[in-house]
Amino acid sequence: MSNELTGYCVYTIVSRDRLDPVALEGGKFVGEEARTWKGGVQLKAEGEMEGQRLPLLLADAKDCSRLLYWGLLEDIQLLDGRTRYTVDRLRALRGRRSPQELVLRSTGEPIAYGFIRPYAICHTPTFLTLDDDGPELAPDEGPSEGSFVEGSTIQVTVNRYERDREARRRCIAHYGSECVACGFDFGARYGAHGQGFIEVHHLDPLSRSGEARSVDPIRDLRPLCSNCHSMIHRQRPPLTIEQLKALLGNAA
Ligand SMILES: [Zn+2]
Ligand SMILES: [Zn+2]
Repeated sequence: MSNELTGYCVYTIVSRDRLDPVALEGGKFVGEEARTWKGGVQLKAEGEMEGQRLPLLLADAKDCSRLLYWGLLEDIQLLDGRTRYTVDRLRALRGRRSPQELVLRSTGEPIAYGFIRPYAICHTPTFLTLDDDGPELAPDEGPSEGSFVEGSTIQVTVNRYERDREARRRCIAHYGSECVACGFDFGARYGAHGQGFIEVHHLDPLSRSGEARSVDPIRDLRPLCSNCHSMIHRQRPPLTIEQLKALLGNAA
């Protein structure tokens, strides 16, 4: 796969409540937007001919002055008056980035401040690089009162990135790093190289659609191997762990 990005990128807005759970899990993001992204489709096709990937930049729909994530557009489907797009995975941007740093292809001007633009084609900014994986989640600037700091005697301000890494760590500490559905153990199979590797599945990401609630690592997260994680998401909403186990013939 190529490591080069196209010279132009697509910009859109999505509510961060929908983005964070997907970013935490590391899976594909599928979004819809109420315009037909003909320019995007063309850029993607042109890029493919050159072996380049088309980046999508995502701003927070509730705070359009912030860019949160970016990813590579794998698919753009033009539907009846709208577009469904698939991003390979969501990469959090380092530091605070704003749409005003993006220059529109159409005018050569930056995106105007306070102007809510749900779809635009921009010059690909230099801060996007494929070799830098960045943090898993976009940092949250405000103090957060996640489940982790509950009961803590010291008042700590944890940003969301640290908190969600901590959520992942706590999930694995509780359930282990073997797949809860099939028992696959990356360390046993791949040796030292695979030691400790596991994907973390959020049982109910959609329940976060309204008000963001903090992730309880024991209640909400389960370790799954990459195969089981793909299979559980093969339908929307995802299968339950029990349904997945039943498919594997592992049901108790
Ligand atoms: Zn598995
Ligand atoms: Zn999942």
